[in-house]
Amino acid sequence: MSTIFSQIVDGEIPARVVYEDEATFAFLDANPLAPGHTLVIPKEEYERLNDVPEDVASALYATIHALVPAVEDAVDADASTVAFNNGEAAGQEVPHVHCHIVPRFEGDGGGPIHAIAGETPDLSDGELDEIASDIETRV
Ligand code: 5GP
Repeated sequence: MSTIFSQIVDGEIPARVVYEDEATFAFLDANPLAPGHTLVIPKEEYERLNDVPEDVASALYATIHALVPAVEDAVDADASTVAFNNGEAAGQEVPHVHCHIVPRFEGDGGGPIHAIAGETPDLSDGELDEIASDIETRV
């Protein structure tokens, strides 16, 4: 069973498509958080960012890079929040990796990306050092 986004890529479900190339695809979100809210996806289905092969990741970033100013200009936005919900615990509902480009406006009442946090941790220097070196060894 293909994801709803693959069905959009295949033209089985209508969408307002704004960009397409060999590896990537972009269309307006059906439930926009702001005018111009756009989703950018790889055409192939990968559930999470870490599942995306390097060449597709490069193509995906190139499309995001081109679309952010296009989207902002189209709706005369002051800025944009560009983000992935990467995994169910982070709020990802469609298991097909997608980047949200959400245009932002002065005084729009929205928050920064920091607003996603629930209770923030109180970490010691030792814990921060340990986490940093653990990440470093896994890259
Ligand atoms: P997620 O929560 O997985 O990061 O975001 C999924 C996004 O896909 C939501 O913002 C939702 O509005 C959007 N979406 C879900 N189904 C459809 C659809 O059929 N068409 C379009 N254009 N967007 C969809």
